[in-house]
Amino acid sequence: MDCLFCKIINKEIPSNIVYETDDVLAFYDIAPQAPVHIVIIPKQHISSPADITEENCNISGKMFLAASEIAKKLNLENGFRIVSNCGEDGGQTVQHLHFHLLAKRSLAWPPG
Ligand code: AMP
Ligand code: ZN
Repeated sequence: MDCLFCKIINKEIPSNIVYETDDVLAFYDIAPQAPVHIVIIPKQHISSPADITEENCNISGKMFLAASEIAKKLNLENGFRIVSNCGEDGGQTVQHLHFHLLAKRSLAWPPG
């Protein structure tokens, strides 16, 4: 399958990994939007949040667990933001479910 994040999971494309389990991988974003910008993905290919089902939804808990563990590891005690872009209007550019974990600067709300 021609999926960028599946290639990162399979180590066909290098990434700077911060967290890895049997189910989840997290690595630094190549175009950071904050001093800390990490991408958290399931190792299972799911195209977007719109493709979460009763059968595969447990993975989202593991993605939040990854965020919590990374926040401890990187001392993000001042807070962080988790974003999951979905589809064209959501600004999704890679069609493999992911969380952006953004931290170490004050983030505007609402987003643009
Ligand atoms: P989205 O636009 O929400 O689909 O997020 C995709 C993210 O993947 C963007 O923030 C990109 O900067 C990031 N990205 C694309 N290619 C790579 C790569 N090779 N390594 C790390 N992050 C990447
Ligand atoms: Zn994929």
